[in-house]
Amino acid sequence: MMREQEQKHGGEWRARALIDRGALRDNLEVARRLAPNSRVMAVVKADAYGHGLAEVTETLAPHVDAFAVATLEEALACRDAHPRIMITVLSGLLAPESLEICARHDLQPLAHSSAHLEWLAGYDGAPLSVWLKIDTGMTRLGLEPARVAGALGELNRNSRIRVSGLMSHLANADDAEDDFTASQLERYRKCADQHELARSLANSAGIMQWPQTHLDWVRPGILLYGGSPLRGRDAGELGLRAAMQLEARLISVRDIEAGRALGYGGAYRARAAARIGMLAFGYADGYPRQLSDRAAALVGGARAPVVGRVSMDMLALDLSDCPPEAACVGGAAILWGEELRVDEIAEHAGTVAHELLCGVGARVRRIFVERING
Ligand SMILES: *Cc1c(COP(=O)(O)O)cnc(C)c1O
Repeated sequence: MMREQEQKHGGEWRARALIDRGALRDNLEVARRLAPNSRVMAVVKADAYGHGLAEVTETLAPHVDAFAVATLEEALACRDAHPRIMITVLSGLLAPESLEICARHDLQPLAHSSAHLEWLAGYDGAPLSVWLKIDTGMTRLGLEPARVAGALGELNRNSRIRVSGLMSHLANADDAEDDFTASQLERYRKCADQHELARSLANSAGIMQWPQTHLDWVRPGILLYGGSPLRGRDAGELGLRAAMQLEARLISVRDIEAGRALGYGGAYRARAAARIGMLAFGYADGYPRQLSDRAAALVGGARAPVVGRVSMDMLALDLSDCPPEAACVGGAAILWGEELRVDEIAEHAGTVAHELLCGVGARVRRIFVERING
């Protein structure tokens, strides 16, 4: 009976991330509408940007053509859940022995360096498909365009290797004014158009505002999760829904008088009498300390500013303007979600939504629902 009671009330949850399966699908649909002639490789690296690899891929698998992850370990986890779908390994491999593992599990690594080409030339295992990565100006991973024809010639000499396509990555596509994207596209096409291979260039920002970059395969990441891929543009206005609603509960509420110092270093001093709530969420859970005195959360639909320093397991909110029935011990605050976008919080922290989302800590339970608030 006790146990049932606990389950009914969800136990004593302190912090949780509700993940909206419908939002994931709707956001994917936005990408499909924008790039109707391209196949979709959904990017689910870093535990699907912190949302949970198994459930996110389960939700999206019927609607996408492939998944992309960063590491071999992530790829194997993805393959366990999905026996058939195409999976690419974006950061490539660290040892030639890993080629055989990829072949065995039908994973497609990226070949982006001379070392990879050497391993592939000497590879004599089971048939293996790879993508070749071209550096068109990001100067992170990839072969110089001038080397691509030679590399393809070499790879074609090994009958066990099949090249699936030519990939490159955009560096500045979030900025509509930046003509670097056009120059990357030009470099890419000049090289890729000489070969009869699938082409893939666009990330979320490319999908949203550079239609010429769509080509054969698009690679949406952040847009699937409802973060804005475009600088200075609101995700809601772009038609994206927040896939994560991050929540934590108040563990204490008290009234303090004007002049009272609060938290480590006494960094915050109340200018007037205030109602202060301690929230069960800290930097160990993925709320950066840089948000001290900057961001806000929603309590009972009203904004509650973060006051004082964020600590490891808790942070303080000024609840003075929040409805009392929500601003009580056990009351829940929304740290980000549909009404308070992760992009806004990221801006306060001097970072991007990607970093906050994939930084949500292991202590925070992910709960998948068909629709949040519905
Ligand atoms: C992470 C990544 C993406 C997705 O980027 P978003 O900006 O999140 O859309 C696409 N391609 C590559 C190679 C990546 O590493």
